[in-house]
Amino acid sequence: MIESFNIIVIGGGAAGFFAALTAKKTNPSASVLLLEKSSHLLNKVRISGGGRCNVSHACFDPVQLAQNYPRGGKALIGPFTRFQPRDTVLWFESRGVELKTESDGRMFPVSDSSQTIIDCLLQEAKKLTVEVRTRQLVESINKNESRFRIALASGGGLECDALLLATGSSPQGYAFAKAFGHTIQEPVPSLFTFNVPAFSLKDLAGISVEQATLHIVGSDFSQKGPLLITHWGFSGPAALKLSAWGARWLNEKNYHVQLSIDWLPDLSNERTIDLLRALRKESPAQCVANKNPFYLPKNLWKRLVDLSGIDSGKRLSEIGNEGLARLCSRLKADVYSVEGKTTHKEEFVTCGGVALDEINFKTMESRLCKRLFFAGEVLDIDAVTGGFNFQNAWTTGWLAGHAMASPS
Ligand SMILES: Cc1cc2nc3c(=O)[nH]c(=O)nc-3n(C[C@H](O)[C@H](O)[C@H](O)COP(=O)(O)OP(=O)(O)OC[C@H]3O[C@@H](n4cnc5c(N)ncnc54)[C@H](O)[C@@H]3O)c2cc1C
Repeated sequence: MIESFNIIVIGGGAAGFFAALTAKKTNPSASVLLLEKSSHLLNKVRISGGGRCNVSHACFDPVQLAQNYPRGGKALIGPFTRFQPRDTVLWFESRGVELKTESDGRMFPVSDSSQTIIDCLLQEAKKLTVEVRTRQLVESINKNESRFRIALASGGGLECDALLLATGSSPQGYAFAKAFGHTIQEPVPSLFTFNVPAFSLKDLAGISVEQATLHIVGSDFSQKGPLLITHWGFSGPAALKLSAWGARWLNEKNYHVQLSIDWLPDLSNERTIDLLRALRKESPAQCVANKNPFYLPKNLWKRLVDLSGIDSGKRLSEIGNEGLARLCSRLKADVYSVEGKTTHKEEFVTCGGVALDEINFKTMESRLCKRLFFAGEVLDIDAVTGGFNFQNAWTTGWLAGHAMASPS
């Protein structure tokens, strides 16, 4: 038996839910069905943000917001003028979920629990009578002149007028898109930390600096921000941002690159050497290990002095100009050999997916197949950490939901 619906959404994640809810709200008389292959709905929402769900980011200017997307930023400027973080806040607030903003701009439910977001989306689906079915693995999709026909792995069949692929980074979703003629930009990981096997800072794990600039030697990729030293290498916002912007390049290099760290990004080389010379002049009898003029954590300063080939127990007066020059270059361009990456547990995404020039970003409809829509991570869109990836899911899901519920 073939069941018939107006709208079918494949994928029970953030984008699929938001699209299904928006479609039903826009056109209550439309029959809307959401299919999820696993037994869990909104699984990534549940584990997101360390279980707190970083829902969005307090950045309300579409152009500025788009700058957080290494892939897809340009395409998202238009969509963000229609549904942006302010709308996300209002959407959840009007359904009883208050969001709070942390000092770095990340937004979370006040409950600090991702379950609050899941409950809200599930209750809304119930209220609007969106039909949600789990354990529904879509096996194939075909289209005749005007309708899509979906075959389920269980043997059932479904038909609809408008179809949304919100399948995240699942290979099946890419295969369906490809079957409709879409190009898939090769999926590679984004948002990871850097492994440095022979790590001279290993015993300093846990130390962080507020500002450092990381640069991948031989590339144009640099990022400034907080940096964390770990047992295996480098993590923290600057490292994660660098992994996102350089995701494809790093993949091509098989994650074997030289990483140069500027521990004093706000000082020029000249200023740094001047300060070191002035320090030597002012406090010649002081031991270099105890005289840290740069607000670097004490143990890190001591280690960088040692790594410059200077005995950190020496008095400053015993360090010649050559020694100071070596210390300066260690502070400004400290190079480490990266060999591999580690998945960041709090948030990771896929770089790559459905090519953006094949999508109409006013409606999220395919330019190649009428009434076929895309939303969320299945697209070649991804962001740095901070709630931007979910904002992509809410925005593109909202646009697709509206368009699917409107006459073609
Ligand atoms: C650990 C972790 C933490 C994260 N934390 C954050 C965060 O705090 N803030 C943030 O902004 N982003 C975060 N992200 C990223 C964010 O979760 C994703 O960008 C977002 O979930 C993408 O939503 P989506 O709906 O496009 O895809 P998904 O959430 O991946 O949903 C796709 C759904 O489609 C289903 N599906 C796939 N193929 C089929 C099929 N053939 N038939 C039926 N169903 C199918 C899948 O089972 C899945 O449920 C995190 C990611 C991870 C992995």
